[in-house]
Amino acid sequence: MLKRKNLVFLGAPGAGKGTISNLLLAKHPLAHISTGDILRAEVAAGTEAGKKAGAIMKAGKLVPDELVADMVSRRLTAPDCENGFILDGFPRTIPQADLLAAALAKLGRSLDRVIYFKVPEEVLIQRLTARLCCRGCDAIYNKLFMPPKVEGKCDKCGGELYQRADDSLETAQNRLKIFREQTAPLVEYYEKRGQLFTAAGEDSADILKQILADLE
Ligand code: ADP
Ligand code: ZN
Repeated sequence: MLKRKNLVFLGAPGAGKGTISNLLLAKHPLAHISTGDILRAEVAAGTEAGKKAGAIMKAGKLVPDELVADMVSRRLTAPDCENGFILDGFPRTIPQADLLAAALAKLGRSLDRVIYFKVPEEVLIQRLTARLCCRGCDAIYNKLFMPPKVEGKCDKCGGELYQRADDSLETAQNRLKIFREQTAPLVEYYEKRGQLFTAAGEDSADILKQILADLE
């Protein structure tokens, strides 16, 4: 059982937030709230929010704070969040962190931990430009570090693997720049509030162990 279960996963694109989320969720019934996944679903469904977000996402820029914060606030009221949640990829700016604190306070809740995934930038670039995602499930692979058993096919569901449009080198560099400028200040923000736990290293199993030692 986890002692701490209202969680934020903070880290650059490619830092492994999604991979570790999947590992943690396999053992603990937390709601997984990935703003990237929610936004991609809105784009695919052609909603108003999706129309606003699509072009911004393709360029690797951040969609407006209020738009994501509203989506997350609504999502947090769903029953599956009662037993804890992982916010994966949100907040990404200081205003988003303030909006999140307000939304949680309204629900009479608060964050237990913000896990910061600390990874060197050259590793991030390598990972991002070699990343593969499954069309069938949420599995993530990497051409270099974590290839699927059969090329182009998901080990778990047999689904087709594809490279995301925002995973090109230029976009990857741009996303890392935005991380440095807009998201990295959240490390200090949460450190000051005594909520930060830093996980470092490159091996997923080892990182999961560090995190569980802090949450259990
Ligand atoms: P990654 O984890 O690889 O950075 P995500 O799937 O989390 O990618 O996000 C993809 C894109 O969705 C981002 O580049 C951005 O355009 C948008 N996005 C996701 N979360 C947020 C957020 N909290 N604030 C603003 N934009 C976001
Ligand atoms: Zn799959």
